[in-house]
Amino acid sequence: MKTDDSIRASLAQCHRVVIKIGSRVLIQSSGRPDLRRIRALVKEIAALHHAGKEVVVVSSGAIGAGLHALGHKTRPGTLPDLQMAAAVGQTRLMSRYSALFARESVRIGQVLLTHDDLRDRVRHLNARNTMMNLLRHRIIPVVNENDVVAVDEIKFGDNDHLGALVGMLLDADLLILLSTVDGLRQPTNGGKTRRVAMIDHISDDVLALAIDQSSTFSTGGMRSKLQSAADFVQVGRSAVIANGRKANVLQRIMTGADEGTLIGRPSLARQDAHNRKRWIAFFHKPQGSVIVDEGACKAIEQQGRSLLPAGILSVEGNFPIGAVINVKTPEGKTIARGLTEYASEAIQTIKGRKTSEIEALLGSKDYDEVIHRDHMLILSQQRTQA
Ligand code: GLU
Repeated sequence: MKTDDSIRASLAQCHRVVIKIGSRVLIQSSGRPDLRRIRALVKEIAALHHAGKEVVVVSSGAIGAGLHALGHKTRPGTLPDLQMAAAVGQTRLMSRYSALFARESVRIGQVLLTHDDLRDRVRHLNARNTMMNLLRHRIIPVVNENDVVAVDEIKFGDNDHLGALVGMLLDADLLILLSTVDGLRQPTNGGKTRRVAMIDHISDDVLALAIDQSSTFSTGGMRSKLQSAADFVQVGRSAVIANGRKANVLQRIMTGADEGTLIGRPSLARQDAHNRKRWIAFFHKPQGSVIVDEGACKAIEQQGRSLLPAGILSVEGNFPIGAVINVKTPEGKTIARGLTEYASEAIQTIKGRKTSEIEALLGSKDYDEVIHRDHMLILSQQRTQA
């Protein structure tokens, strides 16, 4: 078993790093851009780039920059006004980054995405190809949500989630979420709080430690950071939540210093899951679940088998054929996610029954499996799968 120090030290080996910068890191509480901080972060990112790392920046701050430019002191309540602010602010944000990165002899490229882009298989692959091409040409992609067209149904929610998805899209080694706190904090006996230096995985107890504050400029809080990191570390990668206002924070993380909260153990088998399986599992919202018995859990988790009707105890939600659904234990733990060959109604009829009975029960049998192993990603960190 590796020690905490050696796990930290192994971060120096991470080659492809996604750095998400929250609005509050870039904007002062007065609403003005914090140029000194932006300049310092750009220098740090450029240093990583010049050291040979592949860096991808996911930056918030468009809405904040737009509100400042338009003279708004408070966050507008309507979506069109937020989108207007984003339209005005995104160009300002990028011209600031372009100028500052140019001083460090680094080229950048803007990438604006919506959730729909990453869910659609062709656009997903296009986004990946473009960003990989930028990296190959030593150009740093600077990513943000395309706020101008994103309405609720197609939104990522916040840029923490976008950062994790970009990390999975590009198969990054490390996700760094920069905010204005030193990491996750837990209460001490003395009534104070103390930073949590390292977490193996995100449990409900860990989520319960997250206290969120609302802000004029940003949407994500500690909970959203933990949930986003949870997705990313589920495939055997690491994430760090740290304070983007602290001097040399990136250098410290990348040289193994005890900085922020490190989530995930890089020593665990890295799931080099097929890109298509990751696309199925993380770029779609699950539309329901099947609860499975212990035998099915073992067959899926330990033997990499498909899910058959016999192991299903119950169904949650209404979903059609082809929907992405969770596979859960009776205790509610999600062990896998995949594309279902049967609609929820049909699963109600065939659950607990033998594959040979499907035809008699439904009138026809298209598939033996409810979820085929080729269309399912196992969400436990212990296994390696192809
Ligand atoms: N995309 C938004 C912006 O650039 C930020 C979303 C978030 O709060 O994470 O202003």
